[in-house]
Amino acid sequence: MEKKAALVIVDVQNDFCPGGALAVADGDQVAALLSDYAASFAAAGVPVFATRDWHPARTSHFKVYGGIWPVHCVQNTFGAEFHAALRLPPGAVVVSKGSAADVDSYSGFDGVDGGGAGLAQLLRAQAVDEIFIGGLATDYCVKQTVLDGLKHGFSVVLLRDAIRGVDLAPGDSARALDEMRRAGVRTLAAIGELRL
Ligand SMILES: [Zn+2]
Repeated sequence: MEKKAALVIVDVQNDFCPGGALAVADGDQVAALLSDYAASFAAAGVPVFATRDWHPARTSHFKVYGGIWPVHCVQNTFGAEFHAALRLPPGAVVVSKGSAADVDSYSGFDGVDGGGAGLAQLLRAQAVDEIFIGGLATDYCVKQTVLDGLKHGFSVVLLRDAIRGVDLAPGDSARALDEMRRAGVRTLAAIGELRL
């Protein structure tokens, strides 16, 4: 039987791009690329989801309140907005995560839409069984979203050209890729290989 696909774009927000509070090197480069993916998927009738880090001003996720990260992606600030080069197709669903004061929420599967429905629930409601994932950052939110997608029983394809990592320790992104592959993710090298 044909698989029913969805695209999940992870955290392509200003604070994760150059100039942002928690910038990922070349993070902005995935924005235009993921816009192209999103347009291709939408043209094929594939639903598109975009997750965002959406923190309260005070959360134990931030270093100043006991976490490990600088303040980033605070709700309703410029840093939390999607990068200007990210164009989402009409009907794209925004999924927000990290909104509680005491959780990190790296995974898009921790997020909810405007009506409070979780990502897994939203995907199942559209009978999706295969998700394509790209975005920021390889070694945190992309990795956790991929691993959770597999745990939820979805077939997961990583858009290899549309991810970038933090690499807090050198090699973190490479290790994250290994971990995702061991867990069963498949990869697509470039948009030219996409067959919908
Ligand atoms: Zn965060």
